[in-house]
Amino acid sequence: MKQLLFSIHDVSPRHFDRLREIDAFLQKTDLGNNYAMLVVPNFWGEWPLEKHPEFGQWLREKADAGVEMILHGFYHKDTSQHEGRMAQFKATKMTAGEGEFLGLSHEDALGRIRDGRKLLEDILSRPVSGFIAPAWLYGEGAHAALKDEGFTFAEDHMNVWAPNDGHMLVERSPVISYASRSWSRTASSLLWSRLATVVLSQMKIVRQALHPHDFDKDVLTREIDRALRSLLSTRTAIRYQDLLAKST
Ligand SMILES: [Zn+2]
Repeated sequence: MKQLLFSIHDVSPRHFDRLREIDAFLQKTDLGNNYAMLVVPNFWGEWPLEKHPEFGQWLREKADAGVEMILHGFYHKDTSQHEGRMAQFKATKMTAGEGEFLGLSHEDALGRIRDGRKLLEDILSRPVSGFIAPAWLYGEGAHAALKDEGFTFAEDHMNVWAPNDGHMLVERSPVISYASRSWSRTASSLLWSRLATVVLSQMKIVRQALHPHDFDKDVLTREIDRALRSLLSTRTAIRYQDLLAKST
């Protein structure tokens, strides 16, 4: 049977109410707890996980129920100076300044990844071995740091790979994701989502990713619901961890 990897980005106490709402919505589908949460240790430097114990408790409960927990940057904010026009373009135009790991040095990336992992593992009382960079953007420093730390999976827009041994786990499978920042982006993401459930129907593994702000717009919520149900009619939901079992 074909498979679905479903994830929620930007999991932070900043979005606690909305995340509970999205989780309640998912529980009403066949997905249940078969999805991944991408957790930000200190969203924008203003929402440190350790200061929100009730949120940490909720994460622990979701992890116990089977939700996969993945490290998603540290601040989710791009604080570095980008050199070169393309890097600058990517950093500012593609991500609204949220490509945190695009311009970090090896040392800085390693520091943030270690700190974030430790924090999240302490809160969950379980190991964390997956990392997904904010806005799916990685610089060389980030790639090297993930290898050093032995992460077993990471992903960008097109691929999922194993940083620890260099294996490719999912290749050339574009993520179905949504944009809520402007109406033109919303319109193109709606179009992509509608097309994707058809165009990607032959792919063995399809990924669908949500952000908390997607639920600000009814038109997006309806399409997310439609696409998810359509995908689940022909696919089973798996976890990123399940890709590793297969690749060995
Ligand atoms: Zn994010």
